[in-house]
Amino acid sequence: MSKKKIAVIGAGMSGLSAAAYLANAGFAVDVYEKHSGPGGRARQFQAAGYTFDMGPSWYWMPDVFERFFHDLGSKVSDWYRLRLLDPGFEVVYAGGETIRVPHDPGDLCRLFEEKEAGAGARLAEYMRLAKFKYERAMERAVYKPGLRVTELMDWRLLSAAVRWQLFSSIRREVRKTFRHPHLVALMEFPVLFLGSMPDRTPALYTLMNYAGLRLGTWYPEGGFGSVAKGIAALAEDKGARIVYGAEVKRIGIAGGRVTGIEVDGGEVAYDGIVAAGDYAHMEAMLLPPAYRNYKAGYWEKKTFAPSCLIFYLGLRKRFDSLSHHTLFFEEDIDGHGAQIYEEPAWPSRPLFYVCRTSASDEAVAPAGHDNLFLLMPLATGLPDPPQMRADYFELMADRIMRRLGEDIRPHIEYKRSYCVRDFIEDYGAFKGNAYGLANTLSQTAIFRPRMRNRKLPNLVYAGQLTVPGPGVPPALISGKIAAGVLAGYFGKKID
Ligand SMILES: Cc1cc2nc3c(=O)[nH]c(=O)nc-3n(C[C@H](O)[C@H](O)[C@H](O)COP(=O)(O)OP(=O)(O)OC[C@H]3O[C@@H](n4cnc5c(N)ncnc54)[C@H](O)[C@@H]3O)c2cc1C
Repeated sequence: MSKKKIAVIGAGMSGLSAAAYLANAGFAVDVYEKHSGPGGRARQFQAAGYTFDMGPSWYWMPDVFERFFHDLGSKVSDWYRLRLLDPGFEVVYAGGETIRVPHDPGDLCRLFEEKEAGAGARLAEYMRLAKFKYERAMERAVYKPGLRVTELMDWRLLSAAVRWQLFSSIRREVRKTFRHPHLVALMEFPVLFLGSMPDRTPALYTLMNYAGLRLGTWYPEGGFGSVAKGIAALAEDKGARIVYGAEVKRIGIAGGRVTGIEVDGGEVAYDGIVAAGDYAHMEAMLLPPAYRNYKAGYWEKKTFAPSCLIFYLGLRKRFDSLSHHTLFFEEDIDGHGAQIYEEPAWPSRPLFYVCRTSASDEAVAPAGHDNLFLLMPLATGLPDPPQMRADYFELMADRIMRRLGEDIRPHIEYKRSYCVRDFIEDYGAFKGNAYGLANTLSQTAIFRPRMRNRKLPNLVYAGQLTVPGPGVPPALISGKIAAGVLAGYFGKKID
């Protein structure tokens, strides 16, 4: 019998993951990607001798990557090499005080204790619960398609629900445990990965503290682009074909089923489709209104993860006192958060983040040079004229100068900005969001946009806007779940 043919739209992490699983399960898989290389938001570009990761830089949850490769008969080290960062990251606070976060749990407890009497022991206890949540979530909840409530009717899951603190918030749990503002900021910061704020994020997600502080902050040699290339190569190894520079323009429909796609001015027939680009964009651009799961008004009511202002910088000089990851947290997260979620505006007193990939990897910059990535979270939908970008660059450069005691500006030989408009242009991102929907309680699991199209049973969505949520590890999981849902339609199972 000939193989069923599947088209995957988008070679981001979720699309590549879905393609690898489907090809491995015996489907004939073609991936269409509008950009010229793999990774989507996690792709790279080269300029002036530098290699820049466009989006992700924090490699957290290494177990999820390992599980992905293991599922497909492989392992991470077959495709790229990982390095543990220790200290994992640095935080700069008001007044210029900094802390470097060690990987060793004992050292971390000591650091907490130095800041606040008793906080070391409380951290150990807090981490025990965070670990419990992480492990149960991974075992029982995260890999579920979010199609029906009964998925969550597993007694082991239900019995864990109380300890999951679903109806408390990260803010409540952190502030119940720690008082020192530096520790509070350190423990609340992972919510930024979830695209939300500490008071709106269920305390279930303190599991991110376990992910970040215990499982470690890793660096894939060559940058995140190595991960994207590795996953693309694995998908191809399993038989998937990836076509770059190919934007899908329409999904064909007949008899209540999808029948194929329009790409490069031609029609290609398929038995099933995984739409792994931005969900709202996929529906609005590729499907007639009658076949969309959601109307425009639905997306308007959702809480999106922020957009951001990014600068990619090549410096003629190395700044060795700057860590690989530095969080510039001299300002209050709530003030910045209010200007993201409540009264959208360019922030008056922003937090921002700097990644210095060249601290750990000589290959990403010419010898003696530095490769920096500056990121400032920003409300979605804001105008981002060149002057505004430039003003905020000056603000960030001033604060970096305060930290380093030296100005990076005279040493810049390459500079590129990326903001709201670029997210819209490159990904069709709704209002220019950077990484999908926030993981608030009302946007978690079965409450996220559905993976399956309600009217077209052989069309499935994958990616950061559906289950389980934003981030590269969730995107890999999303691809697996979507592959399983589509394979199920054809009577096959993916474990
Ligand atoms: C600035 C930034 C920083 C981040 N930092 C981190 C981090 O440190 N750690 C982490 O884990 N995560 C991070 N993330 C989040 C993470 O990168 C994303 O959640 C994840 O990569 C999303 O993968 P995806 O497959 O859902 O979507 P995408 O990566 O957006 O992939 C979708 C793909 O579909 C393609 N596409 C869209 N429409 C079409 C079409 N019609 N035809 C063909 N192709 C199409 C797009 O070109 C794109 O390549 C960050 C994201 C950003 C933007």
